[in-house]
Amino acid sequence: MIKVGDFQISRVEEVVLDEPVELLAGFNEEIRERHRGWLEPDFYNGERNVFFSVIQTWILRDGKRTIIIDTSGGDDRDRPLSPRFHMQKRHLDRALLAEGVEPEKVDMVFLTHLHVDHVGWNTRKEGDRFVPMFPNARYVVSSTELAARDPERGAKERPPASWNTYLDTVKPILEAGLVDQVEGTENLGPGLDIIQIPGHAPGMIGLRVRSGGEEAVFIADVMHQPLQVYYPEWNSRYCENQELARETRAKVLKHAADEGALLLPAHYGAPHAGYIRSIGKNYRFEPVAWTR
Ligand SMILES: [Zn+2]
Repeated sequence: MIKVGDFQISRVEEVVLDEPVELLAGFNEEIRERHRGWLEPDFYNGERNVFFSVIQTWILRDGKRTIIIDTSGGDDRDRPLSPRFHMQKRHLDRALLAEGVEPEKVDMVFLTHLHVDHVGWNTRKEGDRFVPMFPNARYVVSSTELAARDPERGAKERPPASWNTYLDTVKPILEAGLVDQVEGTENLGPGLDIIQIPGHAPGMIGLRVRSGGEEAVFIADVMHQPLQVYYPEWNSRYCENQELARETRAKVLKHAADEGALLLPAHYGAPHAGYIRSIGKNYRFEPVAWTR
């Protein structure tokens, strides 16, 4: 667990995926040798030359409310375009229960963006339909993301296989009236502010947590690998708007370094979060310490 003032942060893990090093176009042998000492074993495996991408769901509690951030890839999903998330049985529902999170008692589901690895457990399969996994929660979703993924709006020209995610993870929660659409500047209660972090996805949003003089920021996919702290100009191959992704990353790193804020990215290997320290014009990554 990580404490940020009155907030407690924990996590559940769906899977750790091998990520081909082509994820980051700038990665090469020289850079590998320079950073290998700290990249292994949590972020990179040198023998197989792969990064690790953790698919996980963050949990944020303040003693009154339970908020979960993103819902991983999901089980039983027909994902012809994403084999890594196709028809899986990874049982994040059981991991959530083991972490003390009962679906009925979740107050808020904060969705940073609507990519396949962030929305799966919005719903669960019941018979042959998908129903909301967290029936009493408000789902906080960016209106820009909704517009971009809706097959009747922004996704109109895309192949039908790319709508599957929307149809079985977003449509059911919209139809159940559980969605709060946001612009990305709203306040969600004491110490909780939404921030706009577009680029990787057009309407990606983060969550800024402040309490007792401390700060943490859930930054989703602003960075996929901690190596990007050292090479902030590197985008992942999944970033939709490359220029905007770079701009947002630069802003987030500067903010974290200036304010001493803890960054909680979506996909980093253990310990999954850390601080950004300035060294001259560059940055260094300092992993967080967890307590039980
Ligand atoms: Zn992602």
